Order: sequence, then structure tokens, then C-alpha cells
Amino acid sequence: MTPSPLKSVLPRRAFLKTGALSALMLAGGLGAPGTTSALARPQNKRRKPTNVIFMVSDGMSAGTLTMADQFKVWREGKASHWRMAYERASAGCGLMDMSSRSSIVTDSAAASSSWGCGHRVNNGSINMSPEGRPHEPILHLAKQAGRKTGLVTTAKITHATPAGFAANLPDRGEEVLIADQYLERQYDVLLGGGVEFFCPGHRADGRDLVAEFTAGGHRVVRDAAALKALPDNADRVLGLFSENHLPFEVDRLNDPLLREQVPSLAEMTSRALKALSREGEGFIVQIEGARVDHAAHNNDAAGLLYDQLAFDDAIAVALEFQERNPDTLVIITTDHGNANPGINAAGGDDGGEKTFAHIQRFTGSYGRLGLTKEMTPNEIRSRFAEILGIDLSRAHANLLQASLGGERAMPYRRMNQLNSVIGQVLANHTEIGWVGRSHTSDYVQLLALGPGSEKIRGFNRNTDLFPIMARALALQIAG
Ligand SMILES: [Zn+2]
Repeated sequence: MTPSPLKSVLPRRAFLKTGALSALMLAGGLGAPGTTSALARPQNKRRKPTNVIFMVSDGMSAGTLTMADQFKVWREGKASHWRMAYERASAGCGLMDMSSRSSIVTDSAAASSSWGCGHRVNNGSINMSPEGRPHEPILHLAKQAGRKTGLVTTAKITHATPAGFAANLPDRGEEVLIADQYLERQYDVLLGGGVEFFCPGHRADGRDLVAEFTAGGHRVVRDAAALKALPDNADRVLGLFSENHLPFEVDRLNDPLLREQVPSLAEMTSRALKALSREGEGFIVQIEGARVDHAAHNNDAAGLLYDQLAFDDAIAVALEFQERNPDTLVIITTDHGNANPGINAAGGDDGGEKTFAHIQRFTGSYGRLGLTKEMTPNEIRSRFAEILGIDLSRAHANLLQASLGGERAMPYRRMNQLNSVIGQVLANHTEIGWVGRSHTSDYVQLLALGPGSEKIRGFNRNTDLFPIMARALALQIAG
């Protein structure tokens, strides 16, 4: 295992004992210059805590939200739950600047940390100052104050966005250590992928975290049926449904075996809320639609839109919970744009027919095409016909074959990667264009409902959300 730079910051034992990190930070770490805004301490008995449901569609550009809504209207005659929430008079909404400490283009680790601890940190780090000082993340503070805590994601549960609410590490890549911190801090509900960081076969240290979670009182489930079959009183759950990330929703929907193995984000959200709310002491959960970001990196429109709609289904679950439990703050947002896709219409008034009829026929993400550099143009054409229902021109098949062979002919260097070439070829059919294949600096969508949402108006800074959540959870804010 790569040694963690944290060992130079804290004695190893500090990480093995829940609370030791916090004690160290309360002793002075958080009071240092540049870390002033919000110090949260456990247990303020004067106020009843509010539940916090924090929903993040990772890497969701404004065009992604728009196209998913329009796709849903085209297909079902109904607007997305996210858009309908905007129409509620009580909704707090605005734009948010997601800059990190090191860049106007954030990564997911710094973005989630800015919400999770109220400080901007450098890209790649998780709740750690550039000098190596840890900032307490909100889940750990909430846990120490007696609230229930949860993370739900379609990525590995140890990925940057969930970790940004729960862990402290200089490097987001240290996912074994992130899993260790989840265990040490005893978070109640963890649902997602990433079995590899919990099992002895994959870990250099041979630890079996699944066994350790079980010994600590968590029920461990490994497929959708087991999640569904959990008894009503199961309120501490570790659900690991894939070795790595969960599959793209378009692949899950089109594969009965994957549907048996992997629950939808809405199903995970529903079960998490049931577990976390059982005893009524207040909770915080982060729910992430993680693979919207990955599909955007891939310039894969069906991957993107089906995952965004799966996230929207999870929003419906959260809003329905909020209606039954009005003492719940729901925040819905994204951490950064990615590739900024959009429908570039050439004119006409077809109501999106051309784009969405194509998307509707796509039965897999780009990975399902199974393209290899040995394929002939005809073989490439038949894969596109089979998986995407696209009649690829011979010229485009030749272009893809050249790209598979390593040719880099696109004028914009970032668009030379195979997936981007596929995205550009498909744009001739779907009209969905992409500006690149990376995160963008865009200000992001922010919407909130419930107590505390009145503070979210107009233009917001990413670090504004931490004190709002800490107050909702009745964590005492000093200073
Ligand atoms: Zn992200």
C-alpha cells in the first residue's frame, strides 16, 4: 500500500479511534487562520435537528438537466421532478460558484469537500487544507452529535463525492484508507459500488472490512434482492453492488442480469431514507448520481440522459419523503459542469423528435459497442446498428476505424479520444454536440426545499452550504 502523507500529519492511532481526529481538530486545527467560518460542535439540545438530504448529480451541465427534462416530456408527457421543484413557490434556488482552492475548474473531491467541511481545498484532496490540516466533514460531526449518517452513490462508495462528506485525505485516490475511515467513523448507511476496497483479496493489507462492518452491527447486502429483503428494523447497512462503479443506467435497464444484481438509485435512496429516519433523531445523507459525470467525460448521450433520469427518480423519492417529513432540508445540485452538451438544432420545429427518437433506440453505453482496433468498417457499422440503431455512413466508419488505430485527426486535441470521436459522429444523427470531454468552470444549478432553504437565494458560494446544513442538524456553530 502507498504510504499516506496523512501519517506525517496525524499519528496512525488517531485514525483508528473514532473521535480522535475530531478531538485534535477541536483542540486548535480548525481555529487556525484561514479556516475561520464554521466550527461545529456536537450536541446542541436546544433545537430539534432537521434531516438533511443532499442530492448531487455529478458533472451535470445545464444542458444535461435541460435535455433530460425535454426527453422525459417527449417520452412521458411529464416534466422532470427537478424542473417541477423549480416551480414550487417555496423553493430556494440560484446559481453556485464551485471554484476550488486551486482552480476555477473543480474536481469532485474539492467540490464535495467545499460543501462537506465549508472550506475550499485543492483539487484532488478530501477535506484537507493545502498545508495538510484536516477539516472535519459534516457526516463525522453529525455522527458525533448522535445523528444518523448515510452515503448513497452509483459510483464506488469510496469515490470522491461521497468521501467529501465523510473522510479526510490529501489524495482522493487512497480509497482503501477512505473505506477504513468509514468503518472507524461508523457511518450508518453506505450504498454503492466498490467491493474491491473492502475485501481481503483486493487489499494489500488483507483486511476484510465486510467482516469488520458485520461485526460492528452493519447488515451487509450484495445485490438488489438482498437490499429489498432487509428487515424493517435494519438501520445500519453496507450495500456493495459492484466491484467498481455501478453500471450506467442505460446498460442496467437493458440487461436483466444487471437489474437483478444492481438496485436503481431510487431504490437505494428509498431504503436509505427508511433506515436513517427510523428512530427520528435526525440524519444527513448524501445521494449521488455519479455516472452522469462519467457519461459526460465519454461524450455518451444515452449514458448521460438515462443516468440523469435515474437521478431524477431518486429526487422524486426524496421529495415524497420531504412531504411526509416537512422537517427535512433537501438540497439538489451538481458539483461542476462536464463537457457542456446541448442540442444544436439546425432549424425546424420537431419538438426534439430527431434527437430523442435516437436516444430512445440506444440500448447501451459506448462500452457495449465493444469496438476494437481489429474491426473492419463493416463490423463497426453492424455494432452501431445493433446497439444504437444507427445506420453509420461508410465515411464515419472509416473515421472510427482510423481513431481505433490511433490516428489523431481532430483539430481540438481534447476531442481525439475515441469516445469523443464517437460523440462527434453521433452528433450528425442526434444533434447533441459537446464542447470537450472535461469538467467545466460553469456556475451550477442549486435548488433547496424545506427548513433552511430560505437562505439559498441568488448567487451562492459552494462553502455557503456547510453552515446551512450544520444548522439544520443542530450542530452548534461557533464564531
Ligand atoms: Zn464531480
